[in-house]
Amino acid sequence: MLIDPWASSQVDYDKLVNQFGIKKFQDIIGKINEPSRLMRRGVIFGHRDYDKIIPLANQKKEFAVVTGMMPSGQMHIGHKMVLDQLKWYADKGATLSLPIADMESYAARGISLEKAKDIAINEYLTNYIALGLDLTNEKINVYLQSQNNLLKDLTFKISKRSNFNEMKAIYGFTQSTNLAHLYAPLTQVADILLPQIPENGGPKQVVVPVGVDQDPHIRLTRDIADKMNEEYKFKPPASTYHRFLTGLTGGKMSSSKPKTAIYLNDTPKQAEKKVKTAKTGGRESLQEQKELGGKPDECVIYEMLVYHLIDSDKELNKIHEDCKNGTLLCGACKARTSQLMKEFFEDLHEKQPEAKEIAKTLF
Ligand code: SF4
Repeated sequence: MLIDPWASSQVDYDKLVNQFGIKKFQDIIGKINEPSRLMRRGVIFGHRDYDKIIPLANQKKEFAVVTGMMPSGQMHIGHKMVLDQLKWYADKGATLSLPIADMESYAARGISLEKAKDIAINEYLTNYIALGLDLTNEKINVYLQSQNNLLKDLTFKISKRSNFNEMKAIYGFTQSTNLAHLYAPLTQVADILLPQIPENGGPKQVVVPVGVDQDPHIRLTRDIADKMNEEYKFKPPASTYHRFLTGLTGGKMSSSKPKTAIYLNDTPKQAEKKVKTAKTGGRESLQEQKELGGKPDECVIYEMLVYHLIDSDKELNKIHEDCKNGTLLCGACKARTSQLMKEFFEDLHEKQPEAKEIAKTLF
């Protein structure tokens, strides 16, 4: 089974843990000081080598976090998950390296570098700032791949350590895959290793929080880090894996499928309305739900509360319990969730204009 980073499908998380050597996050969570909400709630479900990050995060010692953004479309509420993780790491004193994958969006989606820069500033960076990440902090390094010469030099060296057969085995590339597309993952490997080059302070622990569809990049990077050990003493990057946010209609939330997604540019009213259309874990009839209870673990509404809208674990557990025993019904639950979403969007929209002005100054 290939995990294709360019495909969008629902994933059997347990199977991934068993088949690919990803370790269960729940086995190490007890060692983390103040684990984040996404960690505590099992949204981050797997890892590689995270044991090496924990003591550094606990003691606020030096380590780096890398997470890229590919500017290809609108940000949706699912993207907030990465942002929440970055904020947690910034609090733990990590250096954040945030590549904007304009070269990948050119290679894989045919988006011009100019357009990609525009999307990055007006969409991604604006929302990152509006959602509370201070991108002017000196420990945060945001860059465009196409404008980073250190990155391009490193990519060139990395490409010497890989070959077509390896790329084909990992990504399923074929003879007709264009060569820029083939080069894109190598640039991403360089993004992940970049914090460890001498110009950036040399070898250090790095963690990459990703959706599990990005695991091919992690495996390739760890392999290449190993191959370049003699020259650079790279440490293989650690990684964490988070679940996807389910789309409003059931499958994966996707920027390219408007019916599945709540975009961060939607108005508060639109966001509120969209929540009301979401698939629930409710029963066929009210009577049945009162008797049998709902199914919160199969409910998009409940997932929104878990990922984004309820801070208190106690309150969340109560909703889960009340849903399962049939005392909480979908109408009331949806009304409350859509109100919370509306308030979240009101706050976000208030902050976006100022955030956009700051984003414009970053390059
Ligand atoms: Fe989902 Fe709420 Fe209905 Fe339970 S009561 S199934 S959590 S919408």
